[in-house]
Amino acid sequence: MPEYDDNNIFAKILRGEIPCDKVYEDDHVLAFKDISPQAPVHILVIPKGKYVSIVDFGAKASPEELKAFFSAVETIVSEQNIVSEGFRSIANTGLNGGQEVPHFHLHLLGGKKIGPMVSK
Ligand code: AMP
Repeated sequence: MPEYDDNNIFAKILRGEIPCDKVYEDDHVLAFKDISPQAPVHILVIPKGKYVSIVDFGAKASPEELKAFFSAVETIVSEQNIVSEGFRSIANTGLNGGQEVPHFHLHLLGGKKIGPMVSK
């Protein structure tokens, strides 16, 4: 597991050093619009804790952080009205997963048919 890099862009957003288009925040979770949206709704949900990936989060997060994260997802998709028509959630991980930002984030994509699960 790579070490957490405090200079990653989401760490800077969490420290308030660069802005984000916030859609949700609580003690453990921040969610904001993706700067390069791939769908009408494209939101990134991140824990405030320093977790590199979904693996790191699953291994080290407290029960409170885990609960807060998935409760936040439920709140966000409900507020965005994408539950009934469906949406896709993606957690790119590591090199083969194409993860660009090494702070765990869950993409929520909706508002249109998202298309094939994996492009060839
Ligand atoms: P991933 O490839 O899963 O690591 O995705 C990183 C995502 O972060 C991409 O979809 C980018 O468009 C998005 N992103 C990068 N910088 C920012 C930013 N400053 N604010 C919002 N989204 C960003």
